[in-house]
Amino acid sequence: MAGSGLSLVRRAAEAVRRTPGWQKVVFIVAGAGTLTYACQDNRALQICDGTGNKKKVVILGTGWASASFLRNIDTSLYDIHVVSPRNYFTFTPLLPSVTCGTVEARSIVEPVRNIVRKRNGTFRFWEAECFKIDPTNKKVHCRSDVGTNIDGNGEFVVDYDYLIVGVGARPNTFNTPGVTENCHFLKEVEDAQNIRKSVLKCFERASLPNLSEEERRKNLHFVVIGGGPTGVEFAAELHDFVNEDLAKLYPDVKKYVNISVIEAGGHILTMFDKRITQFAEEKFKRDGIDLKTNFKVVKVSDKDITMTNPATGEIAVPYGMAVWSTGVGTRPIIMDFMKQVGQEDRRALATDEWLRVQGCEDVYALGDCATIAQRKVMVCSCYSIFKTSHRITISLYGTLELYLKSNQMKGFNDLLKDSDGNSKELKELNIEQFKKALAQVDSQVKMLPATAQVAAQEGSYLANCFNKMKACEENPEGPLRIRGAGRHRFKPFRYRHLGQFAPLGGEQTACQLPGDWVHVGHSTQWLWYSAYARLGKAIHLWKGLQQPIDSNRLIP
Ligand SMILES: Cc1cc2nc3c(=O)[nH]c(=O)nc-3n(C[C@H](O)[C@H](O)[C@H](O)COP(=O)(O)OP(=O)(O)OC[C@H]3O[C@@H](n4cnc5c(N)ncnc54)[C@H](O)[C@@H]3O)c2cc1C
Repeated sequence: MAGSGLSLVRRAAEAVRRTPGWQKVVFIVAGAGTLTYACQDNRALQICDGTGNKKKVVILGTGWASASFLRNIDTSLYDIHVVSPRNYFTFTPLLPSVTCGTVEARSIVEPVRNIVRKRNGTFRFWEAECFKIDPTNKKVHCRSDVGTNIDGNGEFVVDYDYLIVGVGARPNTFNTPGVTENCHFLKEVEDAQNIRKSVLKCFERASLPNLSEEERRKNLHFVVIGGGPTGVEFAAELHDFVNEDLAKLYPDVKKYVNISVIEAGGHILTMFDKRITQFAEEKFKRDGIDLKTNFKVVKVSDKDITMTNPATGEIAVPYGMAVWSTGVGTRPIIMDFMKQVGQEDRRALATDEWLRVQGCEDVYALGDCATIAQRKVMVCSCYSIFKTSHRITISLYGTLELYLKSNQMKGFNDLLKDSDGNSKELKELNIEQFKKALAQVDSQVKMLPATAQVAAQEGSYLANCFNKMKACEENPEGPLRIRGAGRHRFKPFRYRHLGQFAPLGGEQTACQLPGDWVHVGHSTQWLWYSAYARLGKAIHLWKGLQQPIDSNRLIP
């Protein structure tokens, strides 16, 4: 009986799908009872969207991780569905340039439909936000704000065989009062456009007649909170924008401009080599950017920013515009999901080294919303490293490279020093001693950085696993590592650190490449553009060429 009911719904739903638009309206009115059932029964969505016997893969998000998965997945093997509040991918490394109009917003986005179309693939996209993941029933609950359904609330449920969670992270305010209400964030394209409008408004406000000097100064005090790569790059961009363009257009008020960077730690760009940190700090000093280190912002009102410092105590500084850039935090949907799968009190979803979420089945997580519980990453690689330890290429082992860098170790031999600092001869070590040395790395390096580089590598890794999955199931005669009970079918994910860049303004970019290669200069700027264009594969060549001519930066 249930079966015939379902097939009636199936036929009805199928009929709706095939019925042209205007007929559909009539049909909906006439058959409201049946269709309400069809929409409330979660199976109905599968009926509407199913494409034969292919497994259904639902992807949440269209950022670096999800877009990289989409670019690499073979869409002929799976029924692919994407849910995201943005129907485009954003090339985030260029967002700070959008704030000052150096690059236009349209140059750094790519429609998600285009990504799949370019590979002649097929998929379904819904512009909506997922607000609940239900791993027990293998469903995601979504809500669209671009349209409503017959329930009038825009909500719908999508079921999945495999779920890929790539929803990224949100700006972290550390619950500082007044931040959300009074500061800009720099995370989305709209944020960058709002910052640009706000900068120009500050100049217009400061130029109004009958204003005291103090008020003009306040309006033109631009404050960046956070001395990480994004905050530093934005401050540098703003400095160039003010000096190269705005100073010419607002000559009367240019003397009141002040750019401050507030950092709670002792230095900016601490994740970079000390030489880069030092260069950046000296350059900011030369440029007249006021760098306040060891200052912690405790409150932001619409008029001033209150901060504390061990030497000065609490001070309040008036400001015109503030940008909050102190790192990322967990999205509510991820917090809720973590509770369901027994991962409370974590910063991000824990996955294994195959990117499978721990505590549930058939759910994968990647990018900023996830972290690989990689306690044994180095120890697992122990045998291959041991075999080649006399000529080890550190850059092949991202975790090891990050560990050595963060502990100011120059090379692999430093890791093998004993507690007195004496270097052990590699030939003297047996595998157990060697394993112990690598266990140090595992115990300290737990998380990969929240970067586009990690997210993109995870996306393409997972897509390649999915592409091979069917063949492995149908053809168990494959190599040993992809068959046999209890064995993983695929090699675990390994992050490959390709280096990092920090644009510092004045067309100077600091660059730190594997092998301790540090460089700052104009040539590095071009290396930066080409490295990220290759990583993203998103910006067409014409878009890259368009960059230098996105020059109309004064029109908000
Ligand atoms: C200004 C800026 C500059 C940066 N520069 C660099 C750089 O130079 N190099 C570098 O390596 N990294 C850089 N990063 C970091 C990098 O952008 C992130 O690490 C990367 O975007 C993470 O990718 P992701 O796919 O996890 O998340 P995101 O790229 O943030 O994508 C998340 C996606 O999920 C969607 N989403 C959100 N909530 C939901 C929901 N509830 N349901 C469905 N979809 C949802 C979002 O709309 C988005 O499409 C920068 C970041 C910023 C903000």
